[in-house]
Amino acid sequence: MEQTKLDTRKGDPGKNTGADTGFLDVRDLKVHFPTDDGLVRAVDGISFRIERGETIGIVGESGSGKSVTSQAILGLHRRSRAQSSGQIWLDGEDLMTVDDERLRELRGNKMAMIFQDPLSAMHPYYTVGAQIVEAIRVHHPDTSKDAAKKRAIDLLGLVGIPSPARRVDQYPHEFSGGMRQRAMIAMALSNDPALLIADEPTTALDVTVQAQILDLMRKLQSEFDSAIIMITHDLGVVAEMADEILVMYGGKAVEHGAVDNVFYEPQHPYAWGLLTSMPRLDRARMDRLNPVPGNPPSLINIPPGCAFHPRCTYQSEVPGDVCRTVVPDLLDDGTSHLTRCHIPTARREEIFLSDIKPRL
Ligand code: SF4
Repeated sequence: MEQTKLDTRKGDPGKNTGADTGFLDVRDLKVHFPTDDGLVRAVDGISFRIERGETIGIVGESGSGKSVTSQAILGLHRRSRAQSSGQIWLDGEDLMTVDDERLRELRGNKMAMIFQDPLSAMHPYYTVGAQIVEAIRVHHPDTSKDAAKKRAIDLLGLVGIPSPARRVDQYPHEFSGGMRQRAMIAMALSNDPALLIADEPTTALDVTVQAQILDLMRKLQSEFDSAIIMITHDLGVVAEMADEILVMYGGKAVEHGAVDNVFYEPQHPYAWGLLTSMPRLDRARMDRLNPVPGNPPSLINIPPGCAFHPRCTYQSEVPGDVCRTVVPDLLDDGTSHLTRCHIPTARREEIFLSDIKPRL
């Protein structure tokens, strides 16, 4: 198992007990899917740890393994053919070993998910209120319908939906995109979950609404003291929200550290590519964005050596064909900032200052 910031920060990563696991402690998580074409290594040894009140941003392109990581935490692969290993400690319980019934109790009660597209996550035939009432009563069957509806109205008000007593009886299609996302957050909060997983929660929204939703999530986090996992392809979103960032590529972490390190002083060529390809309001309209060249790797056929090598413009910094043949380790630079790249740290810092920073 790789040494990560989280392992060095607290506890013994190999210890197989719930002690000293913090609030959420994911250790060497692997999720592989056997298919007719070969084994899809969607998540290949991810470790991280967060406490209540903290946010981690998991960033990467489609197919990097970020959503599969969050689905594994919720136990959504249990009934599939997925081969999962590692440990996922939530408040002292290893979610990989609890039985299905316990997992169902935890899902929605202690952990909840906010999806990218509320329209497909909400049922079109039921009112928004009925769906929140159902979410409450599944976990608290003793709650009366009236009490659950009152709670649904309170929650809709809490997330900033005007006239919640009226809107509670409306259907999802009667809400705007931003309001639907707020309603989805209200539903996720219905049982005060301590862990919120938000998968691209603002991708479908325009910039103003996006900022409002992020503000709302920050406010609710301080109120509920929730831990948040924010899954996104957008480094800008996590820079706003997260305490730490984990950048995934080809199912592995390629960079991991505090937001100030990863966002303001990134060390991995892939993170450099993500950052320099971000649209910026202060950039002249005609300036071209520089997308990361090439495409993400197929998870069935991950390139040998560094998975990023077919797209990396810095391979010449490493002698011989090391980048193409040797998988780099995820190494700590001594400040709990971990990077998976063969270029020595000091040289990467030089490249960042001379080549990348002026373009940000
Ligand atoms: Fe690029 Fe080589 Fe570093 Fe991979 S290990 S990111 S190919 S320089």
